[in-house]
Amino acid sequence: MKKNIPVFVTHYGCPNQCVFCNQKKISGVTQAMTIESCEKLLEEASKLGYSPQDTEIAFFGGSFTGIPVEDQIRYLEIARRYRSYFGGIRLSTRPDYITSSTLELLKEYGVTTIELGVQSMVDHVLTKNQRGMSADDTKNAVRLIKKYDFSLGLQMMTSMYGSTQTDDIYTAEEMIRLQPDFVRIYPTVVLEDTQLYQLYRQGNYQVLPLEDSVSHVAQIYELFVKSKIPVIRVGLMASEEISPGKVIGSYHEAFGELVQGEVFFQQLTDYLKEKETKGKRLRISCHPRRVSTVVGHQKRNVNRLREIFLLKAVKVCGTLTEGNDEFFFRAEFME
Ligand code: SF4
Repeated sequence: MKKNIPVFVTHYGCPNQCVFCNQKKISGVTQAMTIESCEKLLEEASKLGYSPQDTEIAFFGGSFTGIPVEDQIRYLEIARRYRSYFGGIRLSTRPDYITSSTLELLKEYGVTTIELGVQSMVDHVLTKNQRGMSADDTKNAVRLIKKYDFSLGLQMMTSMYGSTQTDDIYTAEEMIRLQPDFVRIYPTVVLEDTQLYQLYRQGNYQVLPLEDSVSHVAQIYELFVKSKIPVIRVGLMASEEISPGKVIGSYHEAFGELVQGEVFFQQLTDYLKEKETKGKRLRISCHPRRVSTVVGHQKRNVNRLREIFLLKAVKVCGTLTEGNDEFFFRAEFME
């Protein structure tokens, strides 16, 4: 994944008020970056000697294509000026803010990647969360973005207000059908100063316990892995505003690590459940980059497997490189 030079256009241009959104807290900044500070940031970053192959300018934190066109052009002109120092320009926006003329403008200024905040592909969930858009808006936007040949990212949220686990799985399956280049998965957290916070306080929205959320998101993560769609982020980034104790819900600073570990744990459990395991030693061979994921956050996978299956020992070796598939592993009992 490329390093981003992030330019936050916080809530700027967004007339919506989705029930879960306190965009200032999500992006960790309280003010949109001005055109002047955007220029200063890129000027400073251009002197840091980043390789253009590894970095890109990223407009995050709001709905870029929803801000007035003249302001989009002002930001994009600066980005284009510094483009040679970085590999590309990415931005995030809403599906219903995508039109042919918008995409023509973004092409003209060298934007390479567009990320859409899909959140759900279930219309009644979108309505309950006051998204002001439908699943068809996403499908139409994806069709246009592909036609104009941008790299496409889709973001989904799990456990939204009114969404069941089946709805979340359906959203992931619909997103897979849309064939994005990558996805991000964000479990819903409850932030203060949002309607969701009120719903939570009134007992109308329940948060999933962390363990349940990890296992639910792992199921979704696995669907993307099986479809060969990279998941480049799971869970919100930690910031001054987003940290354990400051948000309600299934938030953990290492949420992505927990989820990836859970994918291996569930597969290993499936493998072991029909076998005679008591007192045996298990060796798991995996991709060298995945050893710590298989072992699990604070060794939780190794400890759980030993405990549940009464294994004498569990050894994880990073010796297997099956193509480039980092989720491939082999498990066998040792003499
Ligand atoms: S569209 Fe995006 S920025 Fe606007 S309220 Fe909804 S989540 Fe927040």
